[in-house]
Amino acid sequence: MSLKTEITKDIHKCARAIKAGEIVAFGTETVYGLGADCFNEAAVKKIFEAKGRPSDNPLIVHICSIEQAKSVASCWNEDMDMLAKAFWPGPFTIIVPKAQNVPKIVSAGLDTVGIRMPGNYGAVEFIRTCGAPVAAPSANTSGRPSPTKAEHVFKDMKGKIPYILDNGQSEKGLESTVYDVMGKRILRPGVITKEDIEDIVGNIDVSSRKEDSAPKSPGTKYAHYCPSYEVVLIKGKDIEKKIYEICNFAIKANKKCVILDIKDGFKNMPAEIISFDGNLEQCAANLYKILLEGESNIDLLIVGAIPEEGIGAAIMNRLEKAAAGNIIYS
Ligand code: AMP
Ligand code: MG
Repeated sequence: MSLKTEITKDIHKCARAIKAGEIVAFGTETVYGLGADCFNEAAVKKIFEAKGRPSDNPLIVHICSIEQAKSVASCWNEDMDMLAKAFWPGPFTIIVPKAQNVPKIVSAGLDTVGIRMPGNYGAVEFIRTCGAPVAAPSANTSGRPSPTKAEHVFKDMKGKIPYILDNGQSEKGLESTVYDVMGKRILRPGVITKEDIEDIVGNIDVSSRKEDSAPKSPGTKYAHYCPSYEVVLIKGKDIEKKIYEICNFAIKANKKCVILDIKDGFKNMPAEIISFDGNLEQCAANLYKILLEGESNIDLLIVGAIPEEGIGAAIMNRLEKAAAGNIIYS
């Protein structure tokens, strides 16, 4: 069945739809989410169907207060409290033991639950008006780049959902950092960095290592963030020279080539350069916009790798997946 999809700023209309068991996309400061009442199993099922999301990939429960967070967790310890106070509202998800009242479909059968308080007013007001925590993954078809504008969601999800709550462009632009509180490790890097977390709870681990054969966060094992065109990531000692070569080769093959220059300051390249001059926040904020909006005119996006430090770790994590193994060493 095809629905009429409306982009709106009316929080009340969207919250009524959630209360009636519908699913609604809403803007947050990370990316747009596709939400349902976390306690309504039938509604949560619609999220998995609309996205084509594997049922073993759990959803993050979005809350509007620390009290609400405690209501979906089976325990609340000092680390949870300190982290919530330090990073909420904001781009930070904690994985904690799950309360019985949260349906298994939300946590994909795990006995833990991911919880986050989004960092923009529109999203928090929406959750408050819904009167219940809102379970939500990113509002894209599984495997695609995440949406950072209402229009991105519309293009992907039209006909499948009644409303998109337009909260403007997502300011951070990358999904939240996912941190397992009991295991003391990062399961997905984001703009809240390892160093930020260590300032609060001391030494921690990063699990997104390649050798992790059984990732603790199911979502990290799936193909992800792939646009319809080719992305190639260049690593190694002479990135500039390699990009120049690949670019020339692609242009001879009549491909529309674009270079993403995050921090190197490339000059004299034979193709258009999108440059961030080392501003990693700006790069994070615009990465999915570039991946998605390039679909109308890019055949090949060539990106030079950056050090996996600070926000660079999150950017590289998304780029490696967008390149889907298409990595060339210089
Ligand atoms: P998405 O919001 O679509 O970007 O996906 C949410 C991410 O959070 C996925 O990578 C999930 O695997 C992860 N996640 C959510 N809940 C849990 C959980 N209980 N344990 C581990 N990872 C989780
Ligand atoms: Mg996602």
